Amino acid sequence: MHEYDVVIVGGGPGGLNAAIAAGRLGARTLLVERYAFLGGMSTAALVYPWMTFHDMQGQQIVRGIPQEIVDRLTARGASPGHLRDTVGFCHSVTPFDKEVFKQIAVEMVREAGADLLLHALAAETRVAAGKIDAVTVVGPYGRLQVRGDVFVDGTGDCGLVAMAGGSTLLGRPADGKVQAMTMMMRVGGVDLDAVKAYMVAHPDEFWKDSRIDRLSEWPLTGVSGFFSLWETYGPPEVPRDLVLFFAGVRPGEVHVNTTRVIDRDPTAIEAVTEAEIEGRAQVWPVLSFLQQHVPGFANSYLVETGPQIGIRESRRLQGRRMLTTEDITTGRRFEDVIARNGYQIDIHDPEGKALVSQELLESGYDIPYGALVSSDLRNVLVAGRAISCSVEAFASLRTTPSCMAIGQAAGAAAAMASARGCAPGELDVTALQEALLRQDVHLDLPQ
Ligand SMILES: Cc1cc2nc3c(=O)[nH]c(=O)nc-3n(C[C@H](O)[C@H](O)[C@H](O)COP(=O)(O)OP(=O)(O)OC[C@H]3O[C@@H](n4cnc5c(N)ncnc54)[C@H](O)[C@@H]3O)c2cc1C
Repeated sequence: MHEYDVVIVGGGPGGLNAAIAAGRLGARTLLVERYAFLGGMSTAALVYPWMTFHDMQGQQIVRGIPQEIVDRLTARGASPGHLRDTVGFCHSVTPFDKEVFKQIAVEMVREAGADLLLHALAAETRVAAGKIDAVTVVGPYGRLQVRGDVFVDGTGDCGLVAMAGGSTLLGRPADGKVQAMTMMMRVGGVDLDAVKAYMVAHPDEFWKDSRIDRLSEWPLTGVSGFFSLWETYGPPEVPRDLVLFFAGVRPGEVHVNTTRVIDRDPTAIEAVTEAEIEGRAQVWPVLSFLQQHVPGFANSYLVETGPQIGIRESRRLQGRRMLTTEDITTGRRFEDVIARNGYQIDIHDPEGKALVSQELLESGYDIPYGALVSSDLRNVLVAGRAISCSVEAFASLRTTPSCMAIGQAAGAAAAMASARGCAPGELDVTALQEALLRQDVHLDLPQ
């Protein structure tokens, strides 16, 4: 039996930031990840770039450990840092090399003193008196049990909470449907100057907020559109209305976010299997469409797809507090703020071809601590996208920088609750905020 103060399941952006934060505060910390590498959707599903560390006014509102990750990537030539977003989704995007990110993530977790188990699927929980007491971790050739004082669910889909019988939510209130999935593609051999020239000559063919007006000053970071080309030649088996891709960190490379699988339950093995098969099958017609019809792609080729399809949305926590749609559209301030976010409400239609919402938020908004705390499991916090929130709030906070910021707060809270011998729900939030401020987290607390 292994014993820890803090056990974190899931090494995605949320979980790995939680492990670094908990380890740095001196907690005996274990991070458990089912894959052989860290990074979650950023590495396992090629999700790219990170959006966004800024609010729409350009103020940087995600800092702390997530910014340290960017600084380390930049120092190794694996990220240019924050660049302006030419698609018009948000203020900045942050390109990164996922292979270097994998390396840095492990280094930072180990430097923080946290232990790591890879190839380790958390498959069972032991619950006693409303608390998770132990998790059974299954590897290729065996299993082991891990006991913990506080558990952090970084699975991205509240997998740990659900296994332990805690309360979760799934999808739209009316029908439980979740956002579309996408098999991301990394494509090389692209002539981005030809893409740019086409955009300047055909501005109406692109997403309405595209910053074609700034292409002479800003590097081209993303492209959304080619409406007529897609309508005329786009593969009919892909339920999408446009082409979306982002410029890679290497010359001539782009990350294509255009395949789309709808109406699949991310929590059902059979449905996810079908989604993987369908998503992978769409890669080839999309590639062929790009090569034959899109300016700049004539000599392009597929570099890679991810080990898995990108799953945008899955279960969410039923927490002490639920972050509502109104909270984020009005920029509501919370006394128990632990992170801020400035990304828009971005919903990939669960049933159709389009984005059903693209609401740009004027300002950033607070993420309250209560949304990380399970309502019924007394020693469980959530790190990452699966916190307690409405479907629309989820569609905003789901992007990577905010998941990292939430993860840092969850890890710090777990370490502090364990050290103080209290439940996470009883933690003194002012002390947590002070600890986060010392770690350069931006909370914008009222003076
Ligand atoms: C197609 C797509 C496009 C996106 N586009 C963008 C974008 O352009 N920019 C952006 O910033 N964000 C984007 N996002 C959102 C972002 O990638 C995710 O919301 C974010 O990665 C969530 O982080 P997380 O840590 O909560 O979960 P995840 O990234 O899902 O990580 C969860 C981790 O937990 C592990 N895990 C799960 N269950 C277990 C278990 N039982 N045992 C052990 N390990 C387990 C997984 O292997 C994974 O490593 C996109 C997402 C998708 C799917």
